[in-house]
Amino acid sequence: MGLKLYNTMGRELQEFVPINPNQVSIYACGPTVYNFAHIGNLRTYVFEDILKRTLEYLGFKVKHMMNITDVGHLTDDADSGEDKMEKSARETGKTVWEIAEFYTEAFFKDTKSLNIIYADVISKATDNIQEMIELIQRLEEKGYIYIAGGNVYFSIDKFPDYGKLALLDRQKLHAGARIEVDSNKKNPYDFVLWFTKSKFENQTMIWDSPWGRGYPGWHIECSAMAIKYLGEHFDIHCGGIDHINVHHTNEIAQTEAATGKKWVNYWLHAEFLVLNKEKMAKSAGNFLTLAELVKRGYDPLDYRYFCLTGHYRSQLQFSWESLDSSRNARLNIIEKVKSCYEEAGKKTVGKASELSDYAQKLIFNFRDSLEDDLNCPKALAVVWTMLKDSKVSAIEKVFLAIEFDKVLGLSLWEEVNRESNISIDDEVSNLIKEREEARKNRDFKQADVLRDKLKDLGIELKDTPDGTVWKKL
Ligand code: AMP
Ligand code: ZN
Repeated sequence: MGLKLYNTMGRELQEFVPINPNQVSIYACGPTVYNFAHIGNLRTYVFEDILKRTLEYLGFKVKHMMNITDVGHLTDDADSGEDKMEKSARETGKTVWEIAEFYTEAFFKDTKSLNIIYADVISKATDNIQEMIELIQRLEEKGYIYIAGGNVYFSIDKFPDYGKLALLDRQKLHAGARIEVDSNKKNPYDFVLWFTKSKFENQTMIWDSPWGRGYPGWHIECSAMAIKYLGEHFDIHCGGIDHINVHHTNEIAQTEAATGKKWVNYWLHAEFLVLNKEKMAKSAGNFLTLAELVKRGYDPLDYRYFCLTGHYRSQLQFSWESLDSSRNARLNIIEKVKSCYEEAGKKTVGKASELSDYAQKLIFNFRDSLEDDLNCPKALAVVWTMLKDSKVSAIEKVFLAIEFDKVLGLSLWEEVNRESNISIDDEVSNLIKEREEARKNRDFKQADVLRDKLKDLGIELKDTPDGTVWKKL
């Protein structure tokens, strides 16, 4: 079938054709490290991880770049409000550098526990200030900038293609549709490339520049860093859908104005994680962190599984019930693979060519699901069908689960081995059997007594539609 991806630029599914057949380049906008990432942010990073794993699974070599925004991101994407980092530092009594270091570390702890593979290149905005200045200088030479109130602005009226990603109506761009508080702007859609002290008196992260001591705007960071590490023309740029209208629109304008050519071939955007019918957002105060999920007894991979249950281009509604279902589903997969592994005498197939034609067909189905714009719910359905399919042998099931997990990233093999290392002694296994019996006979009182006994022995039970699963406490 070949990989098809939905390109926000053009709003259509397109066949993926890399610029260089030997290496696909991806730029993913990274976190602004002023606070913990919420699980909505993490949904976007899980999506990017699936994208990268899928490309690798399909045989592409990938170069994945992610920036860390440690300066310049204001509380409003359109240049108004305060610098998020400075605000967080003031509120906590720490320096901006301490804030950046602390939350960068916290971010990577979260992504690691979600099995998100590290980007090949990770770079901080503050380590690339010179590149940003040079990019603004290129824009200055070509006449795209103006200075007002001490700040350097990009003039969108000089760039006829402005707004092509967001499908902005050029006729309306002068109407001041955005509520604009910056009276220095000639057009309300103009944006800041370089702030000077005139905007924030007490800014601590500041650098010399040809336009005065100050600091970069958020958008120029991504353009300068993507050009530096991936070049002036590369394959895929991604982020959450909130980046379409302002951040990515401005990135395209300033980059293509500077280079005079098309920048990125595919723009991919993940839809929001939604809580109580609203976008999960720190500013709105309705957000959850991964640490809170863990505190409630969930494994971070339960959340990863939950992310895979929705297509990345659909909103995903968070609820504790759905997270419970994902947890049960993940534990059930582990249990099923584990029992297949035991049934197969702790062996698995060496390579795909040793599988039956029928089992090999399942690999094609799995690939097809991913090639269909990274359709993870469909890919998960293939996993479940495979595990329940009597025409696939136990040994093949183990192989296929490991194979599929290269993309799903649920640590199935590690989990199976971890669980199989736990020896349930006879007493425990008899108690589990007795409880199953009691439940079958609808003797729920006795079943509860046995559950408590097992708990005392360090075994936790979970009853699911597919049977009872257990784990060590
Ligand atoms: P930030 O650290 O604010 O720059 O956001 C990091 C990433 O999370 C960006 O790609 C955002 O588009 C994305 N994002 C923000 N809120 C949500 C949400 N509720 N659901 C999914 N992604 C989100
Ligand atoms: Zn960005």
